[in-house]
Amino acid sequence: MSNAQATQAAPGTSASQTATSQRRVQSTHPMNSSRLLLDLLALAGDGDSSEGWDAVIRRPAMRSLMMALQYREPSIVQHSRRVAGLAVGVAQQLGWERDRLHVLEAASLLHDIGKIGIPDLILYKPGPLSTDETELMSLLYSIAGDVLQACQADRDLIRIVLQSPYHFNGASHDFNVIGTQMHQGARILAVCDAYDSLVTPQAYRDDHTHGQALEILQRGAGTRYDGNVLSALKRWFDLNGVPDPALADGTENYQLQPQELLEAGSLCHVFSYLYLLESLYDGFYIANLNQQVLIWSHGLETLTGIPWQYALEHRDSNRMIQYRDRLGGPVAVQERPAVSTCESRRMQTTELQLRTGSEEWLPVEVQTLPLIDSAGTLHGFAEIFRDTSGTRQKGHYKDLKLMASRDALTHVANRGELRKQLERQMRDYRDREYKVPFSVIFLDIDHFKKCNDTYGHAAGDEVLISIARLLQHETYSGEMVARYGGEEFVIVCPESGLRDVFQKAERLRAAIQSAQVIKSDEFRVTSSFGVATVEPEDEVETLLNRADKALYMSKQQGRNRVSRLTSQELRDNDPELVTPPIVAPNQFVFETSLRACVAADMIVYKMKAFVDNYAAKLGEVRKDKVELRLGSKGLVPYWGSTPDRQPVQITLQFGDERSATLRGASKLIEIAVTVIPQGWCKDPAIFEARARTVVKDLREYLAAEQDTLR
Ligand code: GH3
Ligand code: MG
Ligand code: MG
Repeated sequence: MSNAQATQAAPGTSASQTATSQRRVQSTHPMNSSRLLLDLLALAGDGDSSEGWDAVIRRPAMRSLMMALQYREPSIVQHSRRVAGLAVGVAQQLGWERDRLHVLEAASLLHDIGKIGIPDLILYKPGPLSTDETELMSLLYSIAGDVLQACQADRDLIRIVLQSPYHFNGASHDFNVIGTQMHQGARILAVCDAYDSLVTPQAYRDDHTHGQALEILQRGAGTRYDGNVLSALKRWFDLNGVPDPALADGTENYQLQPQELLEAGSLCHVFSYLYLLESLYDGFYIANLNQQVLIWSHGLETLTGIPWQYALEHRDSNRMIQYRDRLGGPVAVQERPAVSTCESRRMQTTELQLRTGSEEWLPVEVQTLPLIDSAGTLHGFAEIFRDTSGTRQKGHYKDLKLMASRDALTHVANRGELRKQLERQMRDYRDREYKVPFSVIFLDIDHFKKCNDTYGHAAGDEVLISIARLLQHETYSGEMVARYGGEEFVIVCPESGLRDVFQKAERLRAAIQSAQVIKSDEFRVTSSFGVATVEPEDEVETLLNRADKALYMSKQQGRNRVSRLTSQELRDNDPELVTPPIVAPNQFVFETSLRACVAADMIVYKMKAFVDNYAAKLGEVRKDKVELRLGSKGLVPYWGSTPDRQPVQITLQFGDERSATLRGASKLIEIAVTVIPQGWCKDPAIFEARARTVVKDLREYLAAEQDTLR
């Protein structure tokens, strides 16, 4: 592994010196490429199954990687050590056992290993990164994955590193992994990594205090970070105190020995080359002479739809990489480029068609490299792919997928993505033998048309965006927020039952009501909600349908409320299933008028006694109009047999005093009374009886005369 450059460079090499070495590496001749890839494989060694640390990642490989990191950027090593210390502490708080702590510790130490390959230009940029740069920076995880695969590191270790940048709510990764589906180690690492980065000064900003850092993390609880893990971190600080980031950990002054320098230098070249492969090509894999896959790149996962875990488990490259020739004809195993490359020991480039994850055939240019060591022994081959279809360029897959899964206006998941997620939840529910239910919340903004009409369509759009943001902000247990259409949203809540989801929806309802979505005193945005929990006979449609019905109930009962519905309740009450059919709710109106012999201010006083006695809730109160609600709807808003469970809404419209006829000294005031049921009431006769009693009482309180009933 001799390398002239490595001997020249000293640890703590300045940014510009390293940048020079990067440039030289980037012009590496293809022949050297295979040497670099072989160096990568050398990391694996020929270790058998071992115990403790070695079972997680072999000691020599771990040492080489840490040396390379120290060589490239000593501050990353210090950061990684602090993160590892915190992560292990948090994992202990969460009850992890010792064996698993090794995995998390190694993952934390290596989580930034991919940074070795990122050009200095980006790594040391003194300011926020542009979109393109961020995209390139995110390659560090792909590179880390490639290297850790080569090291035959523990699968959990790789998963933890690769998932650590994921957002807890799934929003960063197309909702493929949501909430607790993410490895807990990754959730711990994400929090500890962010904490340490926040309290450490960065190239583009000053450091934050411990308190500020926790506050920033807390703001992301549930969306970006796992709230449970965050609590465990706080508990850990309570028990152990806050470590001083400036405290020396004894590694700062570690000088690499000459032999270590050589090794670390070579390894840095490998990383830079991987960066090149990941950023310029669409995918690659490395296989041994038995055609068994040893490394499966991130890009190739996207191209073929085959995840690395599967590739490394099944290994057979001939089966996973399927070719057709340029014109679509079959390619026999003996005709595959790898065969002739291994025979001739020469690199070759071939135009072929590759079978993609969506079962299509994609024209690609394939570079096949023989992996030969300095002694001339052939160890395997690498194949590097470039998509030549011209329809997609590197990176476009992601954009296309994103576009296909997000709603253009609000950026929450769209209907297609919602369906996918619901189907996934349904599968999980069945796989787990119907024991762990999930729920859905359906919500629809109230009187949104009026909002559009009053403030304009653009303001309406702003409301939709704000509500979507609020919903995302207020959900932090791995829920997925989706726009169902227009002003309707659906929230999928994994692992939650009807009671949970009802409370959750109630919380959202209150949050929307109190948010100042539109700057106006007159218009407060509210939403109506329906919730339902999956039941064993459910399909995606029946579940959504039930939540939608519950939403409809909320609208019927006056909006800005939450209703829930089980399939039993639906069967008992569904208009189409029940005979005789329910009369449309608006036919349940009881109207009459009263003439009260009291002054307007006295009416309010008298009303107060009535309100107190009935424990009524006041709705809208104006000079000429009062709305009251009597009776408790309870959680299930159906009319019961007792008056208390027969909730009604009463509207009193006060007439003009001048129009009232004089009788003695007092003025008579005309009061129009309207009573409607709240909740689903099936029987008009029961309703009318209830309405009459209520009005009779009201009349007594007001000492009023009643008109003939209409
Ligand atoms: P309700 O309380 O019964 O739900 O009344 P509503 O007015 O909210 O319901 P309705 O279904 O009558 O009207 C929905 C309105 O939403 C009509 C439509 O113009 C508006 N809308 C749908 N999509 C968008 C959008 O993307 N932007 C804006 N600004 N308005 C939209
Ligand atoms: Mg609607
Ligand atoms: Mg609406």
